[in-house]
Amino acid sequence: MADKRVPFTRDQVEDITAHFPTPFHLYDASGMRQAAREFRDAFSWVPGGFRNYYAVKALPNPHVLKILWDEGMGFDCSSMAELILCEHMNVPGEAIMFTSNDTPANEYRKALELGAIINLDDITHIDYLNENVGMPELICFRYNPGPLRGGNAIIGKPEEAKYGLTREQLFEAYVKARDLGATRFALHTMVASNELNPDYFVDTAAMLFEIAVELKEKTGIEVEFVNLGGGIGIPYKPEQEAVDLAYVGQKIDEVYRRIIVPAGLGAMRIVMENGRCVTGPHGYLITRVLHQKQTYKNYVGLDGNMANLMRPGMYGAYHHITVLGKEDAPADHVYDVTGSLCENNDKFAIDRSLPNVDIGDLVAIHDTGAHGHSMGFNYNGKLRSAEILLHEDGSAEQIRRAETYEDYFATLDLSAVTPVSV
Ligand SMILES: *Cc1c(COP(=O)(O)O)cnc(C)c1O
Repeated sequence: MADKRVPFTRDQVEDITAHFPTPFHLYDASGMRQAAREFRDAFSWVPGGFRNYYAVKALPNPHVLKILWDEGMGFDCSSMAELILCEHMNVPGEAIMFTSNDTPANEYRKALELGAIINLDDITHIDYLNENVGMPELICFRYNPGPLRGGNAIIGKPEEAKYGLTREQLFEAYVKARDLGATRFALHTMVASNELNPDYFVDTAAMLFEIAVELKEKTGIEVEFVNLGGGIGIPYKPEQEAVDLAYVGQKIDEVYRRIIVPAGLGAMRIVMENGRCVTGPHGYLITRVLHQKQTYKNYVGLDGNMANLMRPGMYGAYHHITVLGKEDAPADHVYDVTGSLCENNDKFAIDRSLPNVDIGDLVAIHDTGAHGHSMGFNYNGKLRSAEILLHEDGSAEQIRRAETYEDYFATLDLSAVTPVSV
């Protein structure tokens, strides 16, 4: 069972709303730090060293990234904007992993300029990179295991995913990159998302370790690290269980000693690129009840909407809801919890049991610290909200202001609009 109690009180949040109007995402700094430390501890055994490259797309706010940097994380980027963010933060090259796909040359150029680790998604990108930008010294390839022999219920159907190289292509790719001047190599895969089964990650590690050994035997090429990808899930639902990172680390240690050490690859580093499990549980969309409506169902209408958090509308994803100040009241009412978008799927929850809700109540929508604000959009003229960081000492700092209508109209020249004639 996951603990779904919020780490703040209604009074505390009311105080914050006196300075920053709802809706906003509220991030719990100490929870994020704690999550980063759990990672470090779980993999402190790795002889060559471990690093989680935080997936920037999950929460691309430099104030949060700074916290994660201070706790030993690097950054996984997949777009120009994310690279620019790292550049502004002066992140050293090899603390940036550039894992992109269908990549334009200018993004490879930027990644190379920054000295980022370039992770290629396809064998044809070796020539594309070499001809357009140049061959880096260190090159990583993304492996797609395809339909796994014997079938692996956990890994699912990688052959349906657009990412990565086949096994045959992978071996060819390393040799080709070496012929073109690469001298340092790495191996990556990522075929899961929001996965709660810890054994999945152990299986992924074993799969990559075996390839690293085979690559050394067949080509003499030694990878200096394997990247197990991201995708560690979080317990969005109260009845779910968080992935035990200590268990994952310990099991991977066993596999490492069985496969990597005897092959003489004992200096190999292990990296991951998780986003969701680091910051996801430590963010909350704080929004206020504007209206109640009773028709064929009971509705609670919030001042937040799916432009602030699109996962429920987009995937039907469950996000837990706490009505602040009513944590211990019985959940004896059933509501659809909606936003104001002219889209019927702008519902944060459908048929959700909650305590009796009153107009003016503050509501915390859980687990918005990853793929929350960052997936926001402007459809229907909705503005993206502020982001507030709740520090360990209880102080609240605005780390991104809310959008204004000036922002919304910034790409139009309204002065050039001809008024209609009446
Ligand atoms: C999105 C993504 C991640 C992070 O996924 P999480 O579910 O947030 O852990 C890591 N690596 C790549 C290549 C991704 O696209």
